[in-house]
Amino acid sequence: MVTFGRPSPLVRAYCLEKQLETPAEIYYKFEGTNTSGSHKLNSAAAQVYYARKEGLTSLTTETGAGQWGTALAMACAYYNIPLSVYMVKVSAEQKPYRKAVIETYGGKVIPSPSNTTEVGRKILAKNPDTGGSLGCAISEAIEVAMKTDNCRYVLGSVLDHVLLHQSIIGEETKTACEKYGIKPDIIIGCAGGGSNLGGLIAPFMGDKIHGKNDIHFIAVEPASCPSLTRGKYAFDFGDTGQTTPLMKMYTLGSGFMPSPNHAGGLRYHGMSPIVSKLYDDGYLEARSVEQLKVFEVATMFARCEGTLPAPESAHALRVAIDEALKCKETGEKKTIVFGLTGTGYFDLSAYMSYNDGSMTDYIPTDEDLAKGFATLPNVGL
Ligand SMILES: *Cc1c(COP(=O)(O)O)cnc(C)c1O
Repeated sequence: MVTFGRPSPLVRAYCLEKQLETPAEIYYKFEGTNTSGSHKLNSAAAQVYYARKEGLTSLTTETGAGQWGTALAMACAYYNIPLSVYMVKVSAEQKPYRKAVIETYGGKVIPSPSNTTEVGRKILAKNPDTGGSLGCAISEAIEVAMKTDNCRYVLGSVLDHVLLHQSIIGEETKTACEKYGIKPDIIIGCAGGGSNLGGLIAPFMGDKIHGKNDIHFIAVEPASCPSLTRGKYAFDFGDTGQTTPLMKMYTLGSGFMPSPNHAGGLRYHGMSPIVSKLYDDGYLEARSVEQLKVFEVATMFARCEGTLPAPESAHALRVAIDEALKCKETGEKKTIVFGLTGTGYFDLSAYMSYNDGSMTDYIPTDEDLAKGFATLPNVGL
């Protein structure tokens, strides 16, 4: 499939370097060239390939922001497997174009909560006007998979196999760096569930653990959903419905209610267990950044480099720029590589709210976090 767009480009941001007047070299690995618009296709394609090989006849999933649903629908169309996407009702209403792309690829979009499942009917009976939640959409998708022969529920981040699929990002980056003599000092990725970051750093981190490099790795998360920087390292559920197996990870608690941050792909309460372990062992730094500062650089990047970044990706860009500006002060000529995970074409409502000045920042208080921590399971570990 040519439109998978691999290898994806590793681009030197010459115009950005010039605008910042930094002695640093800045490179980005751009995952937004495929039609689904993000790195999520790397795992969607692999998971649907194996589903097909295993003889499964349908798949279900949930989607909040819409990137995962789009990528999975694209892969399911290629391998000819029917897909049902439980899309959080407010998202389906706010993002009609996302829904249209999924449907064009043949995916069935069901706004959640729906009356197609028991859990959906129960929620609707209690609260008919609810806009839905990711946790509820996951519970609906899992129920359908459990009740349908030869059907499975698939997940687009967090889990180890997803990071394995995403390691194609890092493998290609490493190959390109070796080919062109680029030696990264800093590698930066945005972190929602941790899959693109985990994939980007994987081969470099392997070398670091074996003492073969001294690269500084940085995970960037939104200040509105700070699972690494303010979370607890604990056993927790992957979903709000508390139906998944427990995972040890940095988490805000499955009941944490993130604010409506525009980087929907980063609004997740937990973090990949692999990324969590690396962070806990001190191999990885984590920083949180505020939304307005993210859109400030997203806009600057669009104007000087021409590429419109996804809001999620612009979190990594923010820290890449902060590091390049430090180099300007110290005169150091560091090499900075960051992951540009997707295109911003599907997030124009977020750009509109930044452009018209209505975007605001939101940082959870300690009380907000305490409410989330209160939902952590008491498993005595
Ligand atoms: C989903 C998404 C993310 C965050 O997911 P990870 O699993 O942390 O990689 C980041 N960027 C884009 C464009 C996304 O769609």
